[in-house]
This record gives sequence, C-alpha cells and structure tokens, in this order.
Amino acid sequence: MELKIECIPTGEIIHLVNQDGDFVCSNCKNAPAIDGIRITMESALTARDRVGVQDFVLLENYTSEAAFIENLKKRFKENLIYTYIGSVLVSVNPYKELEIYSKQHMERYRGVSFYEVSPHIYAIADNSYRSLRTERKDQCILISGESGAGKTEASKKILQYYAVTCPASDQVETVKDRLLQSNPVLEAFGNAKTLRNDNSSRFGKYMDVQFDYKGAPVGGHILNYLLEKSRVVHQNHGERNFHIFYQLLEGGEEDLLRRMGLDKNAQNYQYLVKGQCARVSSINDKNEWKVVRKALAVINFNDDDVEELLSIVASVLHLGNVQFATDEQGNAQVTTENQIKYLARLLSVDSTVLRESLIHKKIIAKGEELNSPLNLEQAAYARDALAKAIYGRTFSWLVSKINKSLTYKGRDLLSLGNASVIGLLDIYGFEVFQHNSFEQFCINYCNEKLQQLFIELTLKSEQDEYESEGIAWEPVQYFNNKIICDLVEEKFKGIISILDEECLRPGEATDMTFLEKLENTVKNHPHFVTHKLGDQKTRKSLGRDEFRLLHYAGEVNYSVVGFLDKNNDLLFRNLKEVMCESGNPIIHQCFDRSELTDKKRPETAATQFKTSVSKLMEILMSKEPSYVRCIKPNDAKQPARFDEVLIRHQVKYLGLIENVRVRRAGFAYRRKYEFFLQRYKPLCPETWPNWNGRAQDGVLILVKTLGYKPEEYKMGRTKIFIRFPKTLFATEDALEE
Ligand code: ATP
Ligand code: MG
Repeated sequence: MELKIECIPTGEIIHLVNQDGDFVCSNCKNAPAIDGIRITMESALTARDRVGVQDFVLLENYTSEAAFIENLKKRFKENLIYTYIGSVLVSVNPYKELEIYSKQHMERYRGVSFYEVSPHIYAIADNSYRSLRTERKDQCILISGESGAGKTEASKKILQYYAVTCPASDQVETVKDRLLQSNPVLEAFGNAKTLRNDNSSRFGKYMDVQFDYKGAPVGGHILNYLLEKSRVVHQNHGERNFHIFYQLLEGGEEDLLRRMGLDKNAQNYQYLVKGQCARVSSINDKNEWKVVRKALAVINFNDDDVEELLSIVASVLHLGNVQFATDEQGNAQVTTENQIKYLARLLSVDSTVLRESLIHKKIIAKGEELNSPLNLEQAAYARDALAKAIYGRTFSWLVSKINKSLTYKGRDLLSLGNASVIGLLDIYGFEVFQHNSFEQFCINYCNEKLQQLFIELTLKSEQDEYESEGIAWEPVQYFNNKIICDLVEEKFKGIISILDEECLRPGEATDMTFLEKLENTVKNHPHFVTHKLGDQKTRKSLGRDEFRLLHYAGEVNYSVVGFLDKNNDLLFRNLKEVMCESGNPIIHQCFDRSELTDKKRPETAATQFKTSVSKLMEILMSKEPSYVRCIKPNDAKQPARFDEVLIRHQVKYLGLIENVRVRRAGFAYRRKYEFFLQRYKPLCPETWPNWNGRAQDGVLILVKTLGYKPEEYKMGRTKIFIRFPKTLFATEDALEE
C-alpha cells in the first residue's frame, strides 16, 4: 500500500519503509510519533484523516466549498497553516509563534521539489529562486489577503530565507543586512495599529531583490504606494498613528527629547489622542525604538541624518498642538507661540514667516500677490495639510534613501548585466469598513487590478497553455472582473476621470456634485449603484452621500465626503514656500522650488495612484509569478480560532475554489520533455544513460516503461502533462529507490 502523509509535528513527508508496517520520517529516519504513539499504517491513516490533504487538488470532492474549508480547518487545528493549490500557497495566520522557521527548516527546503516536502512559504521562496537560476527568468511573488492575514510576515520570511540560504560574501552580507533592516524602519514609519491588525501596513510595497550570476543577493529596490497620510492627523477610535511617534516618545533618550521640546506623555499630543489607545499590549515601543535605531545605522544613516529625520517626526507632533483663536475681525491667530518656536527650530525655518503662513493664504492675481487671512477652520485645515505633506513626503524620501543604500555597487559590470530579480509584493488587501473613503476606494481598486492579473496569469494562462500545447480539456468558468477595473479607470467615463474633472472646477464642484456626475455618467452599470439609482432595499442600506461598488470581493459603500479634497491633495502656496526655504536637508529635498514655478497642474492623487498601479502591473506581467494567498482565521487576532463564516468569505473572493477547479480540470504537473527525460531517464534501460533521439520520443518510451495509464498523462507540443500528483510521486519514489 502506497501512502504519503506528513509527520506531526515536524511536517515531514513520511514514507513506509520497514516490513513491520511502520512509517519512518524521510528526514530523521526514525519512526515518528503522534502524541506518543508510534506511527503504524493504521495510525497513519487516521493521521491523514486528521491532517487533511496538503494539496487541495487531491480532495476527492474538489468542487465543494465545504470540503475545502473542512480541509483547511483540519490542518489549521494541527498547526499545519500551509496548503497548496498546485503551486499556489494558501496560508492561514496562526496568530502564534510556530517552530517551523528555523535554519534547519530552511535547509530542508533548499533545492528540494515542491512535492517532496510539506507545503511551506520556504518552498515558494526556493522554487522561485530555482526558476530564476535555472530558467533565467525574473520572478515575482505576489502575496495577497486582507488586513491581518499575514502578508507582511510572509514577505519577511521569504527575505529571511534568501538571506540565510543564498551564497554569501562580504559585500553580499551587507546587502542582506540592509534588505532585512529596511523592514523595521519602513514599518516604524508606514505601519500602525488598526482595529484589524496591531501592525498594519498603511502603504503598499513592492521590493525587487537583485541577484548576481552566482545567485547571491547583491542589491534591491523598493517601490512604495499610497501611504495613508490622513492617519497623521486623525485616527479612528481604537487605532493609533504611525508607530514611530510612540517609539520616539517611549524610547527617545532624555536629551534628545529635550532638544526636540517633547515630553514622554503621548496624551499631550493632539495627533496621538484621537484613537484613545496610545498603549497596545502587543507592542513594545521602547524595544522597537532600539531596533529602529540600529536598523537606521545599517541602512547608512549617520547621526546627522537621524537627527534630521527625527526632527521632522517631532515637528509633526508640535504642528498638531498648534492652536488658533479668532481676532475681532474673525481671522485666525496662532495662540501657541511655544509650538511655533520649536517648529521653527526643528524645521529650520523663520518663525514669523511660518506663523503668518499658517494663518494666511497667498493668492496671485494679475501678477500681484495677495495675502488673505484664514478663518479658524481654514487655518486648522492648512495646519493639517502641512502635517500630512511633511510626513508623506518624508516617507517617500525615506524609501529613496533606503534604495540608495540597496543599490548594487559592484564594480563587476558584467555580473550586473546578468543580475536578475525576484520581486516581492506586499500590498494592502481588500478593505471594507463601516465607513469607507477615498483611501479604501484606491486600495480596493488596486486589489481589483491584482485580481485581474491573477486571472490573466493563472486562470487564463493555464487554459491558454492547454490550447497552445494542443491538449484537450474541459474549460472552467470564472468571473472576470475586468468590467469593474474599467468602471474605475476608463478614460472619460471611469470614476477616476469623473473625479478629476470635478477637481478642475474649484469653488463650484463639491463632493456632492461629484456624486451627481457619477450618477449621470455611470447609471445602469451592473457594479455601481447609489441611493438615488437604487431600489427600495438598496436605499435603506445606502447613505445619500454614498456610492456602492460591487467589487469581485463583495459590496463596498463609499462616502464621497472628502473625495475632492483628498484627490486634490492641496497645500497652500505660502506653506510650500516656507518649506522650500527649510534648512533641514530632508525637508529641503522634499519640497522643491520648481513646484512653485511650475505652471502645470500637479496630477491628482487618484491619477498618480492609477499610473503607479498600472506601472506595477507591467512590472509584474514581465515576470513569472508565484502566489501566496493569505487567510485571516478570526477577527479577534487570537490563535486556534477558526471562524468559518469569515474564512468562507475569503475563500470565495480569493477565487480559491475556481483555482482548484482549473488545476483539476487540467493537469497537476507539466514538464518540458527535455527536463522530464533528464530527471527520470535512469528509470528506463532504453533512455539510460543517454537518449539520442527526440526528447518527446524518449519520454514516450519512458512513461510506457513506467506503466503510466493513458488517462494519467497527455503529450503536448513541448511538454508532458501529468494529471494526478500521485503519478509523479510514484515516479519520484522509484527514482529514490
Ligand atoms: P495588513 O494588510 O494590515 O498590513 P498583513 O496581511 O500584512 O496585514 P501581518 O502584519 O503580516 O498582516 O500579520 C498580522 C499579525 O499576525 C502579525 O503581527 C503576527 O502577529 C501574526 N502573524 C502573521 N503571520 C504569522 C505567522 N506565519 N506566524 C505567526 N504569527 C503570524
Ligand atoms: Mg502588512
């Protein structure tokens, strides 16, 4: 009887080897135990029943969502958080530390085929690395899933895998360190505690890791997407601002804080009290501070750089405490002189000019400058806009500074020519809140585009391959979300175009006129509805200021309030001018004078985002993708809780069942004839040691010798297609013997 199961808890594949019917672990060669019982054939069978199958393609009832969830649940209970759908890795966040990420575990996956070891994030990392090395094709690993599902953790594990297992040299060690240490810094500035995740990435990140011809990581490059800047000035109840603020206050040395005019109490800062939760039990800001300080040194920050960077962080806190009162004319006046004093020092700007710029708006009319005073509300708006601009631009500066430290500096240009990359994408997952705004609109649009890519590259390309190889198969229906992407991004008619149009009518257009224009332009679209356009039931569940999109992942209601403002992303001219004059070198680089003289309208936030997303798609399209689909098991951030309703929803919108069906309808494995022959030729006297004819003919003789049945395989134009994994398992076993 042939049987393969995973050893619990080591996760090894166990083979039956001795005559007593005992199983032994393929690695440790000992009979492993399940809860102290030695594994016999019988206990192994029960164990298999307990732990489910390691590839959903192996499920008997593979079209059933219930069977899918059941399998996921079985494995989750046994701490087996990883399961495949063919080459796609499904990962369930365990919300606890598992002993599966040691150096020994990494070694176990190095250079080993997928089906020989149990599913793991390291297998994905290794597989991409090997494809890069052997096929010389750039790779990318796309990690998706909703907030808190484990995307960032997964991407860090992949980086660690490369840092440990790839060839090394002195220079390479530095690059490895920098690649790893860029994470704590970016997380300090770009992550925050939200209701969904105590360490939620509030920006999208795509990172290229560059390898030289020896396969050693020699450099890297990061692209960042849409930081959620609004968090700098406002947080929802139970959420925090970006980590760095709390780290600085908790961990900052006394004289550093004194220099910056800060005290340790987060309660004293307006920008930190909105969410009413400065302290979080799972976060140790003081320790993190130390980690970040060390990391900054690794990525080439000298003492001056650090001081300048932290001055900016401190200045944002002071800015939040700037208060205004109205004078007799109803104009805003600054009442917090102390804050202005610190701001002027930290940002190295003139205090009078800064104070006046915060309460005036400069208008240039007919070549003449006019300084019109602001009222209370406008002044507060200008102040917050400045805080967001400073923080947002500093974040982008930080990314470019990190990129400089990751730039390949080898003199050997030849090897640079051969450098190839593995890209890691860790980008915000689909978001649905009680209240959804411009940020969610952008994030969810990005997810639509990624789903589109998944369809193009996985579902569609799989089926296209059968066609090009001339293989007969059963087509599988899936929902193509292109229609939703078009709804958002189409020229003239798309939501972004309409939003931009309204932004061109300052003074006249409002968020509500934007909504009306939407209603007039995209009515009758199957994925769009508003209060006015909807039936009675829809009206009940939609506010008058909302539009609803039927995303591939579900319905989301977006409130248009703030859309125009966020899309314009305006900073009053005089505040820009002050910043351009700043003596703080970072601020000086972030605010360029050309902005003031440039007559061209700056691109709106949504259009910039659309452009960067479309560039990202091009980058990803040019590479060979691997997928990690992350699932969040419960909303309570707790271990061992498997919330079926929540999980079913994610399984549905990640399109996992369709994914299994496409895999099953087709063939689990395919190999180029040359490759297949090379690997298995020892199994057939006619092909061993050398086969001189066409590879395809050799393979035909080989599979006949191996006793493959006709339904088990098909011969394509360039590849052999094998329907069931077990066929290949058996062949692998034969090779081992
Ligand atoms: P977001 O979209 O909000 O950034 P995310 O998908 O990046 O979410 P992570 O930050 O990776 O989510 O994970 C959330 C938390 O879940 C982590 O801080 C960690 O506590 C836990 N976690 C995730 N993956 C693992 C894992 N493999 N092992 C142990 N804990 C994990
Ligand atoms: Mg994250």
